[in-house]
Parts: sequence; structure tokens; C-alpha cells
Amino acid sequence: MNDTDRPGILFVRMPTTDPAPLVMDSPHSGTSYPDDFNHISDFMVLRRAEDTYIHELYADAPDHGALLMGAHFPRSYIDVNRGLDEIDTSLIDGVWDGPVSDSEKAAAGIGLIWRVNQLNENIYDRKLPVAETRHRIETYWQAYHNTLQEALNETRENFGKVIHINCHSMPEISNESSKEGPGVRRPEFCLGDRRGKTCSPELTRFAQATLNDLGYEVAVNEPYAGVELVRAYSDPADNRHSLQVEIRRDLYMDEESLERSNNFNTLKSDLSNFTKKLSAFSRAF
Ligand SMILES: [Zn+2]
Repeated sequence: MNDTDRPGILFVRMPTTDPAPLVMDSPHSGTSYPDDFNHISDFMVLRRAEDTYIHELYADAPDHGALLMGAHFPRSYIDVNRGLDEIDTSLIDGVWDGPVSDSEKAAAGIGLIWRVNQLNENIYDRKLPVAETRHRIETYWQAYHNTLQEALNETRENFGKVIHINCHSMPEISNESSKEGPGVRRPEFCLGDRRGKTCSPELTRFAQATLNDLGYEVAVNEPYAGVELVRAYSDPADNRHSLQVEIRRDLYMDEESLERSNNFNTLKSDLSNFTKKLSAFSRAF
């Protein structure tokens, strides 16, 4: 792979130093809202679905030997951290002939294509034609998944192993569509390995201890155990390890104005340290 920038779609930044078997991806920090989104949601409320600035907080990962990729498009347009079958057919105008599962997330309005914003208000005053839905899947979702899969496969081939860190952020307080119900305060960091299924427990323990040493409170698998991107391409038995890392947003920004807080640079420097240690861990692992 090479450094890539596909405007509106995604970017890939290759290691700038001796490469490590470490791939980091930021699926939800994109802020390039496509012209055909055509939503009725208040724009700033819609933007609360973003993991704003996450790719910036990890921007020096390539200097520690990691490949860093991220989406340019927003999560509220199509959510790459959902399976293609997590589609809300009530939102589609026409007959959907793709796979459909009994998805809790789709039922809550936050499936592959979200129906509601963070205030649980409708994002659209229309249904989405089949062709428009397909366009989102083929141009955005598929491009992201193909690129991530290629990055992981290439790294696995080159090193005989790959560690994948799937980078997110979470609101400080849960809302209506959260599984724990509204009004619950989150821990500062939450690591998700789908309860031991997506990576070696050694990686989860190492990440937790490293963040603890940096002074952070770290929960594991609660409230977030990890979703589609850590599930889809991990296989610890084949030395493919994926771990989801969620950071509480008030550690680096104001969740309503989306402005960086005074602590932004401190967190960024701590994450640089975290990434450097993950890189050393991945080489020795
Ligand atoms: Zn996210």
C-alpha cells in the first residue's frame, strides 16, 4: 500500500519510520458531508455522531511505525462500523434485496444508515431510494472495508502478525439509544475485544496497563465491547488481533460546540506515548 488521499472517501498514511505490525483506523472522525446527504437534522446535532478529531489525536502514529487510515465521510451518512445486514428497511424507499438481520442497532435507529440523530430526532423527512442506499454502500462503506482489509492482510503477510487498533470516541454521558439507557457517565477510556474474542488477552491487558500508567481510568468491554470493524477481520488464532479503543470526548473537546478543549494537546501527547508503546509491543509480540 501507499499513502492515499481519496477526497470525501478516506486517507491512508503509511509508516514514516521502520514499520511495525500495527494498523490503526479512525472510522468515525470524517467531517466531509456529501452533497446528496439531504437531511433535515440540525447540522450541529448531526455532527455529535462524529468521533471528531480522533484521527488528529493519533496523527503521529505513522512516526511510530503504524499505518494510520481514516474515513473522510461522516458516520451519520453511512456507518462503516456496522455489517451490511444491519440495515433499517423502514428507511428504504423500494424493495431491498440485500441481506437483512434482526439488528438491535438498526431497530434503535443507528444501524448501517442512521435514522435518528443524537437527540433521537429523525435525520430525514424522506425515505432513501434503493439506488441512493446502494451508492452509499458501494462508494463509501465498501471502499473503507476494502482498504482496511488490504492494510491488515498486507501487514499480516509481511510480519506474520498484525495488531489492529480501532480508534473511536464516546460521549461523556449515555443517551436514549445507548444500551445502558440515558444519563450514565462513561469511563475515560473503554477497550473492547468482544469479551476476549478479537485479540489475545495479553494485548487488552497491555493497553489497559499502559493507559493506567498514563493516569487514565480504563474499563474493558463495558459499556462498549467492540462492534463490526474489530469483529470482521480479527482472528487471534491466525495472529490477527483487533482491539477497539474508545476515548471519552470531554477529555479533549466540548461536545456541543465541538471545539477542542485546553486538554487536547495533553491527551494527544499521551496518545502518542500510548501508540509508541503499542508499536514496541507489536514488534515483540
Ligand atoms: Zn466511533
